[in-house]
Amino acid sequence: MTVLVLGGAGYIGSHTVDTLINDGYDVAVVDNLITGHTAAVNQKARLYIGDVRDKDFMRNVFQQEDIEGVVHFAAFSVVPESMKLPLKYFDNNITGMINVLEVMNEFDVKNIVFSSSAATYGEPKQVPIKETDPQVPTNPYGESKLTMEKMMHWADVAHGIKFVALRYFNVAGAKPDGSIGEDHNPETHLVPIILQVASGKRQKLQIFGDDYPTPDGTNVRDYVHVLDLADAHVLALKYLAAGNDSDAFNLGSATGFSNLEILEAARKATGKEIPSEMAPRRPGDPSTLIAASDKARKVLGWSPKYDDVEAIIATAWKWTTTHPEGYPQN
Ligand code: NAD
Ligand code: UDP
Repeated sequence: MTVLVLGGAGYIGSHTVDTLINDGYDVAVVDNLITGHTAAVNQKARLYIGDVRDKDFMRNVFQQEDIEGVVHFAAFSVVPESMKLPLKYFDNNITGMINVLEVMNEFDVKNIVFSSSAATYGEPKQVPIKETDPQVPTNPYGESKLTMEKMMHWADVAHGIKFVALRYFNVAGAKPDGSIGEDHNPETHLVPIILQVASGKRQKLQIFGDDYPTPDGTNVRDYVHVLDLADAHVLALKYLAAGNDSDAFNLGSATGFSNLEILEAARKATGKEIPSEMAPRRPGDPSTLIAASDKARKVLGWSPKYDDVEAIIATAWKWTTTHPEGYPQN
């Protein structure tokens, strides 16, 4: 039996594929390579290049593979871009999910683990955020992920397709041996941008907003190592394989770091000065996002190994210094 990883050539997907294979799973990957890289995919996985919105292509993959569960990463995920191009996000993310669920239903595949996001909560009324807190997104990306969660709920009611929605907070780091890592173009996430400055690829870091209601005025986020996240997907697949009900889990560390604190940790992890300047707020950014993730620990048995942002950044720095140009062209 095979786990089908949608978007498995991307940053989090490739680390999850690698972890699944190291844990003994047989893995097939679907990716249209719009932001993914063939070189990121563990060579023991079978890579099908195509779009999850292409139903004939997806049917063909489901015909060729004996799929026991689906892990779904295939989406657009850049908040500022989603503010400018909301329909592009609804098309890829929501249309994609309709197709995935329809084909799963046709082929009687009943388990799906889904990359959801802290962005589904929007500006929280309280932190740490619990899974039961209101979900009121402040940007179209978060809205698309919330809609995808709701679609899975109704597909469960109607077709018995069970899901685990993993609501990631801020993901960072890379496999510590430096063999795979984060390579987005353009890069928009804080940690890889800071490391681009540290490695001389970018002149300085712009910190978006210093007038938020946080201790130092910059946004506060909750960082998780990408391999800890990958482990949570394996646990979620086991949870579903054991016949448990659909559910949602936050994945974070319950500790918040401000953008200035992340910059300081990166200076320590890299030994570089990393010039920075304050810049205006970025539209759509909630002030503080911190996860209560005790539910994932208790129910899934998740036990993240990285609890130190400097150590997380050090693994990303290893990838950056060993792959200054990122992955080779697809
Ligand atoms: P990524 O862009 O590196 O990976 C997404 C992958 O999906 C890429 O390989 C891309 O080519 C593929 N893809 C996109 N649309 C597709 C389509 N229609 N058909 C086939 N393949 C398609 O992103 P990532 O950082 O690895 O994030 C993965 C998932 O995790 C996303 O869904 C994102 O919403 C979610 N997430 C990420 C973060 C984070 O901090 N990176 C936080 C919360 C949630
Ligand atoms: N950020 C920043 N400068 C950058 C990129 C990001 O100040 O060049 C800030 C961003 O405004 C947010 C935090 O870093 O407060 C994390 O942003 P990222 O895009 O990494 O993740 P998000 O929290 O949006 O999922």
